[in-house]
Amino acid sequence: MSLDGINEFKYNAGFLVVLTAPSGAGKTSIRDGLLHKNKNLVYSISCTTREKRESEVDGRDYFFITEEKFQEMIEKNKFLEWANVHDHYYGTPKGYIKENIRNGKIIIMDIDVQGGINVKKRFPDAVFIFILPPSFDDLEKRLIERGADDMATIKLRIENARKEIILMYNYNYLIVNDELRRAIVSVRAIINAEQRKISRNVDFYKSYIK
Ligand code: 5GP
Repeated sequence: MSLDGINEFKYNAGFLVVLTAPSGAGKTSIRDGLLHKNKNLVYSISCTTREKRESEVDGRDYFFITEEKFQEMIEKNKFLEWANVHDHYYGTPKGYIKENIRNGKIIIMDIDVQGGINVKKRFPDAVFIFILPPSFDDLEKRLIERGADDMATIKLRIENARKEIILMYNYNYLIVNDELRRAIVSVRAIINAEQRKISRNVDFYKSYIK
């Protein structure tokens, strides 16, 4: 939006937005919708030891690495958080997060609930959003339709979903993804409100009252 002749105010505090959902809840589509044409938002690309799916690109969806490399990164303290999810390792590399927070970016993290709880210990002012499909039946249907996993994996993911949902009380916001566009609008609204919190704009109001 342009305000002719008026300097547009920029909210410039960087912060983390953690998106968590059981697999099949539509989190990836929500994430992609959020990132589309929004230069202020950046995506934290995780490392994983899971096999790459056909549709995925190394360095865009994940950094696909070996278990040895993952262990080495744990030992060298390279992860902000990491977890074993559905029998594979996943971790958030630290460097990218630090650099982007410094540059005032809003960083979208797509991580599981254990990872979210660990991030909360280190970044209590991060924003924690939990996404649910309308029902468990719907979840199973989405996982089967997606065709990315075999039946045993789908069963494991559904079992894990029940365990994850129990931990949702650690989060700030709940989005039920019954309609993708509406879910994206809701997440955007949360981010907009969070960006405008006084506590994230202390430098601005200090300089304003001087
Ligand atoms: P998928 O294999 O379907 O891509 O992801 C499986 C789960 O791992 C998802 O819940 C996803 O959010 C989570 N995940 C992806 N990256 C990370 C990460 O860096 N840390 C943690 N804790 N979980 C992750």
